[in-house]
Amino acid sequence: MTNKPTMRVTCPRCKGISFKTPVGERAQCPLCKYIWLPDIPFNNDWIFNQNMQGCADSIYKGLWVLQGIERNLGALDKERSIDVKLTLESGLTIDIQEKFRRAHYKEYWQFTVEYKNNPITNEPGEFYKLAANYYFYGYVNKKEDSFTDWWLIDLNVFKNLYADGTILHNYILQNEKRSNASALCFNFKNPELQRCFLRHPALKK
Ligand SMILES: [Zn+2]
Repeated sequence: MTNKPTMRVTCPRCKGISFKTPVGERAQCPLCKYIWLPDIPFNNDWIFNQNMQGCADSIYKGLWVLQGIERNLGALDKERSIDVKLTLESGLTIDIQEKFRRAHYKEYWQFTVEYKNNPITNEPGEFYKLAANYYFYGYVNKKEDSFTDWWLIDLNVFKNLYADGTILHNYILQNEKRSNASALCFNFKNPELQRCFLRHPALKK
């Protein structure tokens, strides 16, 4: 496991897959093995994510008594889609996958799960690796310093309801901005999806 900040990059040679890599270090494409030094991000998605991680941490601290928050989990992130590991006072751990969406995405009002990282090469996305306990999904305000709406989706409940056909995705989004990835979309108004929301007094609906 590494504890370095990471950013998401796409291979400039084959453009075949997007993946996370430590900031300021050489990256190697998992598909074509091309090695390059990506530009260090400035005032972009990376900064946005760093800021919103702090806001998410504040929410977690309001939900549980924590002794630790661990990010940049390396293989756990890559192979099991886990962005953050919370350690409770008791020592129990809670694994969370996170997605922070900018304000303009709010009009879609839907939970999106990356389906194929690259539909052309059939590279599986996070849908195939969802191992976290919860999925934190939040819409960010225009100033990008807090969440206007957020959910903690219980992934065990979600997976069971999806497996028996109770929850259906509304559609497959074929092209997410700035990547080739496709995504399964579930409207937040779907009462079956609402069964997956973690019940808690602090939970905003
Ligand atoms: Zn490549």
